[in-house]
Amino acid sequence: MTAEWFEETLHSGLRTRLRIDKLLYEGKSKHQHLILFENSEFGRVLALNGVVQTTERDEFIYHEMLAHVPLLAHGSAREILIIGGGDGGMLEEVLKHKSVARATLVEIDSSVIDFSKEYLRSICGSAFEDRRTNIVIADGVEYVETTDQRYDIIIVDSTDPIGPGEALFTERFYTACKRSLSQGGVLVTQNGVPFVQGDELRNSLSILTGLFADATCFTATVPGYVGGCMAFGWGTDNADLRTLPLAVLEARLAAEHLDARCYTAAVHQASFALPGYIAELVR
Ligand code: SAM
Repeated sequence: MTAEWFEETLHSGLRTRLRIDKLLYEGKSKHQHLILFENSEFGRVLALNGVVQTTERDEFIYHEMLAHVPLLAHGSAREILIIGGGDGGMLEEVLKHKSVARATLVEIDSSVIDFSKEYLRSICGSAFEDRRTNIVIADGVEYVETTDQRYDIIIVDSTDPIGPGEALFTERFYTACKRSLSQGGVLVTQNGVPFVQGDELRNSLSILTGLFADATCFTATVPGYVGGCMAFGWGTDNADLRTLPLAVLEARLAAEHLDARCYTAAVHQASFALPGYIAELVR
Protein backbone atom coordinates (compact mmCIF):
# COMPACT_ATOMS: atom_id res chain seq x y z
CA MET A 1 0.00 0.00 0.00
CA THR A 2 1.41 3.44 -0.90
CA ALA A 3 1.63 5.99 1.88
CA GLU A 4 -0.67 9.01 1.87
CA TRP A 5 0.86 12.46 2.22
CA PHE A 6 -0.46 15.81 3.41
CA GLU A 7 0.82 18.66 1.23
CA GLU A 8 0.85 22.15 2.74
CA THR A 9 -0.40 24.74 0.27
CA LEU A 10 0.57 27.97 2.07
CA HIS A 11 3.34 29.20 -0.26
CA SER A 12 3.07 29.48 -4.04
CA GLY A 13 6.56 28.22 -4.91
CA LEU A 14 7.23 25.94 -1.95
CA ARG A 15 5.36 22.80 -1.00
CA THR A 16 6.00 20.72 2.12
CA ARG A 17 4.77 17.15 2.50
CA LEU A 18 4.17 15.25 5.72
CA ARG A 19 3.36 11.54 5.66
CA ILE A 20 -0.05 10.67 7.07
CA ASP A 21 0.80 7.63 9.19
CA LYS A 22 -2.68 7.59 10.68
CA LEU A 23 -5.60 9.85 9.78
CA LEU A 24 -7.45 10.76 12.99
CA TYR A 25 -10.01 13.21 11.63
CA GLU A 26 -10.88 15.11 8.47
CA GLY A 27 -13.90 17.36 8.00
CA LYS A 28 -15.27 20.85 7.46
CA SER A 29 -16.49 23.24 10.12
CA LYS A 30 -18.56 26.36 9.40
CA HIS A 31 -15.30 28.31 9.01
CA GLN A 32 -12.61 25.98 7.69
CA HIS A 33 -11.34 22.56 6.63
CA LEU A 34 -9.76 20.58 9.50
CA ILE A 35 -7.40 17.64 9.32
CA LEU A 36 -5.60 15.83 12.14
CA PHE A 37 -3.13 13.04 11.52
CA GLU A 38 -0.13 11.30 13.03
CA ASN A 39 3.32 11.72 11.51
CA SER A 40 6.49 9.91 12.59
CA GLU A 41 8.55 13.12 12.98
CA PHE A 42 6.00 15.57 14.41
CA GLY A 43 3.49 13.39 16.28
CA ARG A 44 -0.09 14.59 15.91
CA VAL A 45 -0.39 17.38 13.32
CA LEU A 46 -3.33 19.81 13.08
CA ALA A 47 -3.85 21.66 9.79
CA LEU A 48 -6.60 24.16 8.92
CA ASN A 49 -7.40 25.03 5.30
CA GLY A 50 -4.31 23.10 4.19
CA VAL A 51 -1.90 24.91 6.53
CA VAL A 52 -0.10 23.33 9.52
CA GLN A 53 -1.24 25.01 12.76
CA THR A 54 0.47 23.03 15.45
CA THR A 55 2.22 19.73 15.98
CA GLU A 56 2.70 17.68 19.14
CA ARG A 57 6.50 17.62 18.94
CA ASP A 58 7.38 21.25 18.22
CA GLU A 59 4.45 23.18 19.71
CA PHE A 60 6.44 23.94 22.87
CA ILE A 61 8.79 26.25 20.94
CA TYR A 62 6.03 28.40 19.45
CA HIS A 63 3.80 28.47 22.53
CA GLU A 64 6.57 29.08 25.08
CA MET A 65 8.10 31.92 23.07
CA LEU A 66 4.86 33.70 22.26
CA ALA A 67 3.60 33.40 25.86
CA HIS A 68 6.66 33.67 28.12
CA VAL A 69 8.47 36.51 26.31
CA PRO A 70 5.68 39.09 26.85
CA LEU A 71 4.58 37.76 30.25
CA LEU A 72 8.06 37.69 31.77
CA ALA A 73 8.95 41.04 30.19
CA HIS A 74 5.82 42.55 31.76
CA GLY A 75 6.44 40.90 35.13
CA SER A 76 2.99 41.27 36.70
CA ALA A 77 0.41 40.53 33.99
CA ARG A 78 -2.99 39.63 35.44
CA GLU A 79 -5.42 39.90 32.51
CA ILE A 80 -4.44 38.06 29.32
CA LEU A 81 -6.29 37.98 26.00
CA ILE A 82 -5.54 35.32 23.40
CA ILE A 83 -7.06 35.83 19.95
CA GLY A 84 -7.37 32.54 18.03
CA GLY A 85 -5.39 29.79 19.73
CA GLY A 86 -8.21 27.21 19.65
CA ASP A 87 -5.77 24.34 20.10
CA GLY A 88 -5.27 25.53 23.71
CA GLY A 89 -1.45 25.34 23.67
CA MET A 90 -1.03 29.09 24.26
CA LEU A 91 -3.63 29.03 27.01
CA GLU A 92 -1.73 26.26 28.77
CA GLU A 93 1.55 28.24 28.75
CA VAL A 94 -0.13 31.48 29.88
CA LEU A 95 -1.83 29.75 32.82
CA LYS A 96 1.55 28.53 34.10
CA HIS A 97 2.18 32.11 35.31
CA LYS A 98 1.10 32.67 38.91
CA SER A 99 0.37 36.38 38.29
CA VAL A 100 -2.39 35.54 35.77
CA ALA A 101 -5.86 36.10 37.24
CA ARG A 102 -7.77 35.45 34.03
CA ALA A 103 -7.00 34.27 30.50
CA THR A 104 -9.67 35.05 27.91
CA LEU A 105 -9.46 33.10 24.65
CA VAL A 106 -11.46 34.42 21.70
CA GLU A 107 -11.75 31.77 19.00
CA ILE A 108 -13.97 32.07 15.92
CA ASP A 109 -14.36 28.32 15.40
CA SER A 110 -15.63 26.31 18.39
CA SER A 111 -14.92 23.05 16.58
CA VAL A 112 -11.13 23.65 16.90
CA ILE A 113 -11.55 23.75 20.69
CA ASP A 114 -13.78 20.64 20.77
CA PHE A 115 -11.34 18.87 18.55
CA SER A 116 -8.36 19.77 20.74
CA LYS A 117 -10.11 18.60 23.87
CA GLU A 118 -10.66 15.26 22.21
CA TYR A 119 -7.38 14.70 20.32
CA LEU A 120 -4.74 17.20 21.50
CA ARG A 121 -4.62 16.88 25.29
CA SER A 122 -0.83 16.59 24.98
CA ILE A 123 -0.92 20.22 23.75
CA CYS A 124 -3.74 21.83 25.77
CA GLY A 125 -3.55 19.71 28.94
CA SER A 126 -6.38 20.77 31.26
CA ALA A 127 -6.16 24.47 30.26
CA PHE A 128 -9.77 24.64 29.05
CA GLU A 129 -10.98 23.44 32.45
CA ASP A 130 -8.84 25.92 34.49
CA ARG A 131 -11.00 28.21 36.67
CA ARG A 132 -9.10 31.26 35.30
CA THR A 133 -10.04 30.39 31.70
CA ASN A 134 -12.74 32.40 29.94
CA ILE A 135 -13.67 31.11 26.47
CA VAL A 136 -15.48 33.40 24.02
CA ILE A 137 -16.60 32.09 20.62
CA ALA A 138 -16.48 35.18 18.41
CA ASP A 139 -14.54 36.97 15.72
CA GLY A 140 -11.40 38.46 17.29
CA VAL A 141 -11.81 41.80 15.51
CA GLU A 142 -15.36 42.30 16.73
CA TYR A 143 -14.35 41.28 20.25
CA VAL A 144 -11.49 43.76 20.64
CA GLU A 145 -13.54 46.53 19.07
CA THR A 146 -16.36 46.13 21.58
CA THR A 147 -14.84 44.88 24.86
CA ASP A 148 -14.66 47.20 27.88
CA GLN A 149 -12.04 44.99 29.50
CA ARG A 150 -8.39 46.09 29.48
CA TYR A 151 -5.64 43.52 29.09
CA ASP A 152 -2.02 43.51 30.23
CA ILE A 153 -1.01 41.20 27.38
CA ILE A 154 -2.76 40.45 24.08
CA ILE A 155 -1.45 37.41 22.19
CA VAL A 156 -2.59 37.00 18.60
CA ASP A 157 -2.29 33.25 18.00
CA SER A 158 -3.87 33.33 14.58
CA THR A 159 -3.90 31.38 11.36
CA ASP A 160 -2.08 32.96 8.43
CA PRO A 161 -3.77 35.90 6.65
CA ILE A 162 -6.05 33.69 4.58
CA GLY A 163 -9.74 33.01 5.34
CA PRO A 164 -10.99 34.10 8.79
CA GLY A 165 -7.44 34.99 9.91
CA GLU A 166 -7.01 37.73 7.29
CA ALA A 167 -8.79 40.32 9.45
CA LEU A 168 -6.26 39.73 12.24
CA PHE A 169 -3.49 41.40 10.20
CA THR A 170 -5.25 44.70 9.56
CA GLU A 171 -4.89 48.25 10.88
CA ARG A 172 -8.48 48.09 12.14
CA PHE A 173 -7.65 45.07 14.32
CA TYR A 174 -4.29 46.32 15.64
CA THR A 175 -5.83 49.70 16.50
CA ALA A 176 -8.58 47.99 18.50
CA CYS A 177 -5.94 45.83 20.25
CA LYS A 178 -4.04 48.95 21.28
CA ARG A 179 -7.26 50.43 22.71
CA SER A 180 -7.85 47.24 24.70
CA LEU A 181 -4.41 47.20 26.36
CA SER A 182 -3.88 48.49 29.89
CA GLN A 183 -1.14 51.09 30.42
CA GLY A 184 2.25 49.59 29.55
CA GLY A 185 0.56 46.49 28.13
CA VAL A 186 2.09 44.39 25.34
CA LEU A 187 0.67 43.12 22.04
CA VAL A 188 2.40 40.11 20.44
CA THR A 189 1.42 38.57 17.11
CA GLN A 190 2.03 35.44 15.05
CA ASN A 191 3.71 36.96 11.98
CA GLY A 192 4.78 34.05 9.82
CA VAL A 193 8.16 33.05 8.40
CA PRO A 194 9.79 36.25 7.06
CA PHE A 195 11.97 34.50 4.46
CA VAL A 196 8.83 33.39 2.60
CA GLN A 197 6.23 35.77 4.08
CA GLY A 198 8.20 39.00 4.24
CA ASP A 199 5.36 41.21 3.00
CA GLU A 200 3.16 40.02 5.84
CA LEU A 201 5.73 41.06 8.46
CA ARG A 202 6.48 44.35 6.73
CA ASN A 203 2.79 45.20 6.57
CA SER A 204 2.11 44.35 10.24
CA LEU A 205 5.17 46.22 11.49
CA SER A 206 4.42 49.32 9.44
CA ILE A 207 1.07 49.49 11.29
CA LEU A 208 2.46 48.62 14.74
CA THR A 209 5.21 51.23 14.38
CA GLY A 210 2.55 53.90 13.91
CA LEU A 211 0.58 52.74 16.95
CA PHE A 212 3.20 52.00 19.61
CA ALA A 213 6.22 53.79 21.09
CA ASP A 214 8.15 50.53 20.73
CA ALA A 215 7.39 48.16 17.84
CA THR A 216 9.61 45.40 16.49
CA CYS A 217 9.62 41.63 16.19
CA PHE A 218 11.38 38.71 17.85
CA THR A 219 12.08 35.32 16.33
CA ALA A 220 12.15 31.59 17.03
CA THR A 221 12.76 28.60 14.80
CA VAL A 222 9.77 26.26 14.77
CA PRO A 223 10.49 23.20 12.55
CA GLY A 224 6.87 22.69 11.44
CA TYR A 225 6.69 26.20 9.94
CA VAL A 226 9.09 25.80 7.04
CA GLY A 227 11.30 28.41 5.37
CA GLY A 228 13.49 29.59 8.27
CA CYS A 229 12.81 31.25 11.60
CA MET A 230 9.41 32.70 12.30
CA ALA A 231 8.70 36.23 13.47
CA PHE A 232 6.46 37.46 16.28
CA GLY A 233 5.32 41.08 16.25
CA TRP A 234 5.85 43.14 19.42
CA GLY A 235 4.15 46.43 20.29
CA THR A 236 4.08 48.36 23.57
CA ASP A 237 4.32 51.91 24.84
CA ASN A 238 6.76 50.83 27.54
CA ALA A 239 10.10 50.60 25.71
CA ASP A 240 11.90 49.46 28.89
CA LEU A 241 10.26 46.03 28.65
CA ARG A 242 12.48 45.08 25.73
CA THR A 243 15.78 45.96 27.41
CA LEU A 244 15.45 44.24 30.78
CA PRO A 245 18.74 42.98 32.23
CA LEU A 246 19.33 39.23 32.00
CA ALA A 247 19.38 38.94 35.81
CA VAL A 248 15.84 40.37 36.04
CA LEU A 249 14.50 37.87 33.48
CA GLU A 250 16.34 35.02 35.20
CA ALA A 251 14.89 35.94 38.59
CA ARG A 252 11.35 36.15 37.16
CA LEU A 253 11.77 32.81 35.39
CA ALA A 254 13.09 31.12 38.54
CA ALA A 255 10.15 32.46 40.56
CA GLU A 256 7.63 31.03 38.06
CA HIS A 257 9.01 27.43 37.86
CA LEU A 258 7.81 27.21 34.28
CA ASP A 259 9.61 23.99 33.39
CA ALA A 260 10.25 25.39 29.89
CA ARG A 261 12.03 23.34 27.19
CA CYS A 262 12.83 26.20 24.78
CA TYR A 263 12.47 29.47 26.68
CA THR A 264 15.42 30.65 28.77
CA ALA A 265 16.22 34.22 29.83
CA ALA A 266 19.16 34.27 27.40
CA VAL A 267 16.99 32.98 24.53
CA HIS A 268 14.44 35.69 25.40
CA GLN A 269 17.06 38.44 25.05
CA ALA A 270 18.61 36.90 21.94
CA SER A 271 15.23 36.55 20.21
CA PHE A 272 15.16 40.34 19.72
CA ALA A 273 18.51 40.33 17.87
CA LEU A 274 17.33 40.42 14.26
CA PRO A 275 19.24 39.16 11.23
CA GLY A 276 19.75 41.96 8.70
CA TYR A 277 17.18 40.64 6.20
CA ILE A 278 14.48 40.70 8.91
CA ALA A 279 15.56 44.04 10.41
CA GLU A 280 15.08 45.54 6.93
CA LEU A 281 11.44 44.42 6.92
CA VAL A 282 10.59 46.00 10.26
CA ARG A 283 12.21 49.42 9.80
N1 SAM B 1 -0.02 28.35 15.97
C1 SAM B 1 -0.79 28.52 14.80
C2 SAM B 1 -0.04 29.07 13.63
O1 SAM B 1 1.03 29.66 13.80
O2 SAM B 1 -0.50 28.87 12.51
C3 SAM B 1 -2.13 29.14 15.06
C4 SAM B 1 -2.92 28.16 15.87
S1 SAM B 1 -4.57 28.44 16.29
C5 SAM B 1 -5.21 26.86 15.82
C6 SAM B 1 -5.25 29.57 15.11
C7 SAM B 1 -6.75 29.79 15.35
O3 SAM B 1 -7.12 31.10 14.95
C8 SAM B 1 -7.66 28.83 14.59
O4 SAM B 1 -8.26 27.92 15.47
C9 SAM B 1 -8.70 29.74 13.91
O5 SAM B 1 -10.01 29.24 13.95
C10 SAM B 1 -8.52 31.03 14.73
N2 SAM B 1 -8.97 32.23 14.01
C11 SAM B 1 -8.78 32.56 12.71
N3 SAM B 1 -9.35 33.73 12.42
C12 SAM B 1 -9.91 34.19 13.58
C13 SAM B 1 -10.65 35.36 13.92
N4 SAM B 1 -10.93 36.30 13.00
N5 SAM B 1 -11.07 35.49 15.20
C14 SAM B 1 -10.78 34.56 16.14
N6 SAM B 1 -10.10 33.42 15.86
C15 SAM B 1 -9.66 33.24 14.60
